[in-house]
Parts: sequence; C-alpha cells; structure tokens
Amino acid sequence: MIVIDEKKIFDEIQKRRPVSVALNGPDGILPKIQDTASRIMERFGIPAYVLADSCFGTCDMNTNGAKVLGAEILFHIGHTVNSTSFGDDIVLVDAFDNISFDGIARKCAEEFSGKTISLVTDSQHLHEVDKVRAILEQEGIKVMVGKGKGQLNDGQVFGCEFYPVMETRDSVDANIFLGQSNFHAAGIALSTNRPTYVLDPYFNEIREVTEFAQTLQKKAILSVYKAAEAESFGIIVGLKEGQFSKVTALKFKRELESLGKKVQLFALTDITDDKLQNLRGIDAFIQVACPRISTDNHFHRPVLSTPQANALVRILKKENVDNFLQVPHWL
Ligand code: SF4
Repeated sequence: MIVIDEKKIFDEIQKRRPVSVALNGPDGILPKIQDTASRIMERFGIPAYVLADSCFGTCDMNTNGAKVLGAEILFHIGHTVNSTSFGDDIVLVDAFDNISFDGIARKCAEEFSGKTISLVTDSQHLHEVDKVRAILEQEGIKVMVGKGKGQLNDGQVFGCEFYPVMETRDSVDANIFLGQSNFHAAGIALSTNRPTYVLDPYFNEIREVTEFAQTLQKKAILSVYKAAEAESFGIIVGLKEGQFSKVTALKFKRELESLGKKVQLFALTDITDDKLQNLRGIDAFIQVACPRISTDNHFHRPVLSTPQANALVRILKKENVDNFLQVPHWL
C-alpha cells in the first residue's frame, strides 16, 4: 500500500498558511492524493486542488497549472529525488510503498545463488534496498548498488536515466529491479545490455524483462532506419517544463538542414499519434521531450527520441551507430 508523507504536507501548511494549495503525482497514486487533498480541506479550510493530468516525474510537475489556480504551494508527491532545488513554491513529498520484499528476496536468493547482481529500484521502494541487500548477501549473493548522480539517489533509476546500473554493468551477471515497473526495468535492460529481472512482491514472482526490452530496441532501431529515408522532418519541442529542450531541437534542425533535409518546427504538450496524424507533409518526426514517448508508444510515422535522432544523424553522415541506447542518460 502506498503511504504519503502527510505529516510533511500538514507541517508545511501549518507553517506557511497558504490561501490554497495544489497536489499532483503519478497516475497510480491519484486516489491517495485525492484523500490527502480532502484531509487538507477538512483540517485547514483552504482549497486543495488535485492536478489530475498525467504526471510522470519531476520533469512533468505542471507548476504552470498551480500558478494559474493561484495555489501558493504545489505538493509534488511520489517522485523522490536527490535534490532540493525546485524553489519555495514546490515541496517534494515522499510516497513509499510499504509492501515487504522479504519473501520474494528469499526466492531470489535461491535463483541467483553464486551470482553477482546490481540492485536497483524506483523512488517508491528505495527504502527496501538495504533490507533486500542484507537478505541476498546472507545467502551468498554478491550485491552491488551503483551510485546516484544528479537527481538520482544510489540504486535509483528514472525511465530515461540509468547512472547506478551503468556503473555496475561490467561487474554483474544481472540487474534486479525492486518493484512492479516493467517500464523502468526495460530501460535498465536497454541501457546496460544485461539480463534484467523484476522482483515483484505483489505477485510474489521474479519476471525477466530482457526479451521485452529487446522488442523495444528492435522497434527503436527500425524507426531510425525508416527515418533515414525521410526527406522532410518535423522536430517537436515538448512544452512540459522539465522536458523543454529548444536548444537540442534547434541543433537537430541545423544538422538535418546541413544534410539537405527539410525541417519544420512544432511544439506540443502531449505528443501522441492522434496529434501527429493532423500534421501533413512530414515523413518523420524527432521529439526532444521524454525519450520513452518514442521507444514505448506506437506511431504511424517514425518519431525519434534524442538518442535515436543522434543515431540518425550519424547514419546520414555514414558514421557508426552501434549501441546508441547504451548511455546513462537518454537526453
Ligand atoms: S522517462 Fe525521463 S523524461 Fe520521461 S517522464 Fe520519466 S524522467 Fe521524465
């Protein structure tokens, strides 16, 4: 069960007495955030708005929504990061999953006996890393936990940022991800090119995602080669504040034009196949927002992420493009 650190929220409101607040977080915990908002309104008698658009990370906080609503504090829940530099109006609030990994860790100890593994997780299960490590080490497994970097804590990954597992990848037999997210685990498999497993305490199962990741990789490579045949490109700047990357968009524009391609520029908040279907005269797109939009979704025309677009430029220049997803950060 997800537990939100409501004490932090209540203490902050008590201290700062805002006239109204806003809250947001990942889709999966929105019902919990609704409950928290109701408790704020009951306890303090102020409006507490739930920003209910999809929110995938601290790259996608919708601070503009909070501003438009006149909310003096935005509580961003459930994306624990190693940073406090978001300004006074934004308060990051932890949301931990209190399910125990003890049972599934013992099962893992039997399966990976004698092996060396890299232990990794997302923000909601970070507090379980030390406990699982102790169980596995007791059974003779060599456990590594890679160092965090930037906003990442040790042993933590985002969907597009993999520093801890990239640090350990040459020393381990497999990556073990604590949680339920095939999305995060597939990113780990793609960036490290190592067998990767999900330790899922809810289904009490160990799932390998290596094959799923290979399917995503084939799709990503195919899109790059299809885009290499395109003459006209649409380059899309994402308007979500933490995914905004106009400089990268303009860099790709310059590079493609110097290679004789036609380029139009677009800006979108949500980059979906439906929205792109309206745009005419474009053979392929490059979007410089969230890279997982390109790798994990279906589009009728090629839609390349930043690492795919880097590979495309190299192909057009007749350079080597090996392993373009095996980098610690896909932006
Ligand atoms: S994959 Fe990266 S850019 Fe996309 S939502 Fe997650 S953190 Fe943000």
